[in-house]
Amino acid sequence: MWIVFIGPPGAGKGTQCSRLVESLSVPHLSTGDMLRDTERDSPLGKVVASYIDVGRLAPDYLVMPIVTKRLSENDCQSGCLFDGFPRTVHQAELLDEFLKQRQVRIDAVLHLHVKPEVLLDRLLKRAELQNRKDDNKETISARLEVYRTQTAPVLQHYRGQGNVLEIDGDQSADRVFDDILTGLESRK
Ligand code: AMP
Repeated sequence: MWIVFIGPPGAGKGTQCSRLVESLSVPHLSTGDMLRDTERDSPLGKVVASYIDVGRLAPDYLVMPIVTKRLSENDCQSGCLFDGFPRTVHQAELLDEFLKQRQVRIDAVLHLHVKPEVLLDRLLKRAELQNRKDDNKETISARLEVYRTQTAPVLQHYRGQGNVLEIDGDQSADRVFDDILTGLESRK
């Protein structure tokens, strides 16, 4: 299955992806993780960090080659879980084009929605646990704004394709996961 997760930072996309990877046996493609894996001291890593550290989206010329390279690997031939990608309507169009060449399309878009006050709380807690440079109050508000202005419109793009499943991300991780499985089942 080809599945896209869309939700603001702190919505629980990574957590739910890890669970789904096990139950569906498809790889988890997190552009945030892949960008963070770029060696921080390398010239490329410095450019990447200059975006991540302030909560801005990295440009497509950096993101798209990472995604297409990963999608060309053996384990991604029959599906994957996109986490943090696409983040703009343009990226969604590029992904549609790429998948069209393979004669496949996105099966489901899981929209995880969570109340803003819950998000801030979760992200600040995550900051303590994971020591992520971009989990501080200032960068979090920049990332939420980027989500609102650039990523939320991606939902509209997919609504046009009729494959968006609404998931209440305010619930416990177990209940969110149950709702995801039920939603995916209904699309088979
Ligand atoms: P995430 O781990 O998904 O929260 O992503 C962390 C940061 O990586 C984001 O705030 C962006 O700076 C960058 N990033 C991740 N995915 C993308 C993407 N698809 N396009 C542009 N920048 C991205």
